[in-house]
Formats: sequence, structure tokens, C-alpha cells
Amino acid sequence: MSKIVVVGGGAAGLELVTHLGKSFARNNQHQVVLVEPASHHYWKPRLHEIAAGTFDDELDAVSYLQHAYCNHYQYIQASMNSLDRQAKTIEIRDAQGELSQVEYDYLVIAVGAVSNDFKTQGVSEHCLFLDSASQAKQAWEQINPLLKTKGEHHISIVGAGATGVELAAELAKVSAKLERYREDTKLNISLIEAADRVLPAGPKSMSAKVESALEKLGVNVRTDLRIQRAQDGKLVTASGEIITSDLQIWAAGIKCADWLTQLDGLDTNRINQLKVDATLQTTRDDAIFVIGDSAECPQPDGSFVPPRAQAANQAAGHLAVQLKRLLKGKAIKPFVFHDGGMLVAIGHDYAVGTLMNNKLVLRGRLVRNLYDTIFRLHQRILFGWGRVTALVVLKRVKGSLNPFYKHNIS
Ligand SMILES: Cc1cc2nc3c(=O)[nH]c(=O)nc-3n(C[C@H](O)[C@H](O)[C@H](O)COP(=O)(O)OP(=O)(O)OC[C@H]3O[C@@H](n4cnc5c(N)ncnc54)[C@H](O)[C@@H]3O)c2cc1C
Repeated sequence: MSKIVVVGGGAAGLELVTHLGKSFARNNQHQVVLVEPASHHYWKPRLHEIAAGTFDDELDAVSYLQHAYCNHYQYIQASMNSLDRQAKTIEIRDAQGELSQVEYDYLVIAVGAVSNDFKTQGVSEHCLFLDSASQAKQAWEQINPLLKTKGEHHISIVGAGATGVELAAELAKVSAKLERYREDTKLNISLIEAADRVLPAGPKSMSAKVESALEKLGVNVRTDLRIQRAQDGKLVTASGEIITSDLQIWAAGIKCADWLTQLDGLDTNRINQLKVDATLQTTRDDAIFVIGDSAECPQPDGSFVPPRAQAANQAAGHLAVQLKRLLKGKAIKPFVFHDGGMLVAIGHDYAVGTLMNNKLVLRGRLVRNLYDTIFRLHQRILFGWGRVTALVVLKRVKGSLNPFYKHNIS
């Protein structure tokens, strides 16, 4: 019997333990362990909905404890700290700060990435982030009082990648919907981007459509604007302009946690991603795999797998199959990412997306349904189609009965 330890239960890690737990449950073939500090799983591309008060916790959050029980893996609520490759152990810290060791035969690291402040002065002290559900909840705790207070309030979002765009659109929609009930409260949203267009990693035609959709929602899109310093309620640009706001949210760039650079000699790149071969095994140790945003994985054309939810899901599915092969003594195959295009939600009833290698840019309500399908596919792996269908129906019913904005309007 082998012990597979997966660290991080996000888009990649949770799908992997689900596949492995189900595969190995019969006859207790192999042991599968998930190490994850949070108690509940939230699909990261929906964190902006938590920050905007439109996320449905009841239907869309997953309890690790319950999921582990139903899918035959062990869940340890703790964070990984360090690694001893010789002893094949990781050190973990639980919520009380207690340290302990977990042994492994195969280790999979899937701890994701966070936004990158590029060491910009004052950002960590004066900006909110959207890298975890707890940070998204903190953001909501500060946005909600603004929505309840008379007057115009200003929110600046730095970084017009998928996170920044989706958050700006969601907040603008919430503000517009609330104005129906109460005319004297308004959020003014500025979306600030250092590149010359929103979604700089996507095709230009998509950027233009997204920018025009944001402007229709009243979002003030400002490109070619680099933030040099953040202060209390102020962002200072490279040209000296001062942008004042009630709240500032940093959603630019990505990097991985610093502790990944101290993992017993494993190789990392300049944004702290662990370097792996095409088989997803680290360049220095074949018993350690890395998937999702925390991996720098080469592709046949010389590029690297992008840090996207779709890539994390594909890598998890691929590795589940390869680990089964490995445990049967068979050779494992390289991971090749198939880019199904990019989709960005602009509120709850509109999205813009690319298909056919970015040749086709689509927008509208149907594209928004396609965007939802990606989340539903993630849920299908976690729960199966039966429960996903029930969740979709329940959501429709709740949506038609409840206000769009989930929290008390007073
Ligand atoms: C607001 C937002 C919107 C986004 N929108 C899109 C989008 O529209 N399309 C798209 O493709 N991508 C989008 N992304 C990116 C996408 O969410 C990520 O690419 C994807 O979640 C990566 O999956 P992952 O499993 O590598 O990491 P994650 O999903 O981030 O999961 C990492 C897990 O590791 C856990 N962890 C962290 N540190 C430790 C530790 N020390 N020990 C144990 N566990 C640890 C975390 O708690 C977390 O559960 C968005 C991201 C954000 C934040």
C-alpha cells in the first residue's frame, strides 16, 4: 500500500483527491491524504462574488470534512511548512500552531498562487486582496457598510486581469441593483491597469469588448497607469497623480508563497513556482509532483502551462490517471494543456470569451452560461451529476425568490 499526500485542496488538489479517493477506496488499495488549512473549499474564480456579497455559501461552499468522508480520503486541517526529502516527510502546522510530521510515498503540492504586489510600497498595509475566501470575506466586511451608507463611495481596483475585471463588474452590478431600492447610495469603481488594455494576457479583440462592457456598467477603466505607492485611502501613480478612495483592492499579477523556495533543494522560478518536468514531477525529485498555479510546467511548444483554473483541473485529471499507472508499475505520460479559450464574467448575466485559439470572440448571456458550466464541471467531479443538477435547480429557485444582493438591506 502506498500513501499519497496532496497539499492544497483548491481547483487542482480537491479534484485530484476526489479521483484518487474513489479509485483506491475499494479494497483499501492505497491511502490518500489531503492537507489543507481551510475548513471549506470555495472555487477561486468566484471569490469576487464573496467580496461583492452575491455568493451563495449554502449552495456553493464545500465542507472538506464531509467531502473527505464521502470520497474516501483523509483530511488534515493544517498548512505545510517544510519538507524532508530523505525522510519522505512534510512538516505541518495545525490551527492551534501545533507542529507534526506526515509521511508520504508520493507527495503532490497544489498550494496555488497569490497576487503579486511587485514590492510596491505600502500595498500590503493599505490594500485588500482577493487571494482566499477569508480575504474575500474581509473585503465584503468593508464593502457592505459602504453599501449601507448614504452618498457616493469610491473603490479602486488595481489590476485588470480576470480577477480585477470580474470584481469591478460585480460591484458595479450590485451598486446598480441596490440603487433600485435606495437611490442615495452609489459605488464608483475605478479599474486601474499598468498595461495599455484590460486583460493584457488575452487577445486584443477580447480586451476591447470587455472594456466597452465595463464602461457600460459605469466602471472607470484607466489603462497605462502604474501605481508606485499605496497609502491610507490613496494610490500614487508613477506620474504623481493621487487617486483617493474609500477602499483599495490589489488584484494584479501572481506569485507563489516564499516558503516554496525553501523546500529541501527543490528548484523554483522568479515567481516562486516549483519547476516540474512535463510529467509534473519536480526537476529534483520524482516522488514529488506539483500541479496548478504553483507549478512551472513546460509544454511541447516551449511555453509553460498558464496559471488558470482550466489548466489546474486538466492537470488534476491527468495526474490522477498517471498516479494509478505509476502504482501499477507503468511508465507515466507527459501533461499537455489543451486551451479551451478564456472566459470572463461581467456580472451575473453577461460574459466575454474566446474560442478556437482566440480566433473567435463571443459575448452575451449564452457565454455567461458557458462560464457557469466550467464551475459546474468542477462540481461534477466533486459530487457527480445528480447533486450538481439539484444544486442548479435550487440556485434557480433561490435566485427567483431572493434579492441578487444576499445580505441584509437596511
Ligand atoms: C478572484 C479570482 C478570479 C479568477 N478568475 C479566473 C477565471 O475567470 N478563469 C480562470 O481560468 N482562472 C481564474 N482565476 C485563477 C484560478 O482561480 C486559479 O488558476 C486556480 O484556482 C488555481 O488552482 P490551484 O489548485 O493551483 O490553486 P487554488 O485554487 O488557489 O488552491 C490552492 C489551495 O492550497 C491551499 N494552501 C495554500 N497554502 C497552503 C499550505 N501551506 N499548506 C496546505 N494548503 C495550502 C489553499 O488554502 C487553497 O485551498 C481567478 C482567481 C481569482 C483569485
